Amino acid sequence: MTEHFDGQDAWAAALRAHGRRVTKQRLAVLAAVERHPHSPAESILAAARAELPELTAQSVYVVLGDLTDLHMLRRFEPPHSPALYETRVDDNHHHAICISCGRVEDVDCAVGHAPCLTPHWDEKSKPMTIQIADVMYQGICQDCQQSQQKTSNPPLQMKEK
Ligand SMILES: [Zn+2]
Ligand SMILES: [Zn+2]
Repeated sequence: MTEHFDGQDAWAAALRAHGRRVTKQRLAVLAAVERHPHSPAESILAAARAELPELTAQSVYVVLGDLTDLHMLRRFEPPHSPALYETRVDDNHHHAICISCGRVEDVDCAVGHAPCLTPHWDEKSKPMTIQIADVMYQGICQDCQQSQQKTSNPPLQMKEK
């Protein structure tokens, strides 16, 4: 309970630091994203409504956009997925996405700040000052690997070994 209160205080302070009023809507959205990292707006709306039933979809979208612009939230868009939001910002972490079930895991950035990759410019290109290297890993999670093994033909697997 105390922890919850501390979290709210920290969010309130961060909102004030960004020149935003501390509103129930903003706090409910922040708390929902904190509890459900890597969630689409729809799930954030559902989670925030549990605390604040009068919350409208429209206001959740506005708050998400505004807090993302302030870098209090990070928004990223995996392929074939709606945009996902999280409160873990400023550490330049990356994401690994299971192409089978869509599960998302955080992957620490080896460097810890952007950009963590620098391109090699050939003579023909006009170099840019790179600010962000957006790394996204895609693969198959362990759960999906296991269920695929179960459903695949056992004799075939024996042969492969
Ligand atoms: Zn999976
Ligand atoms: Zn993340």
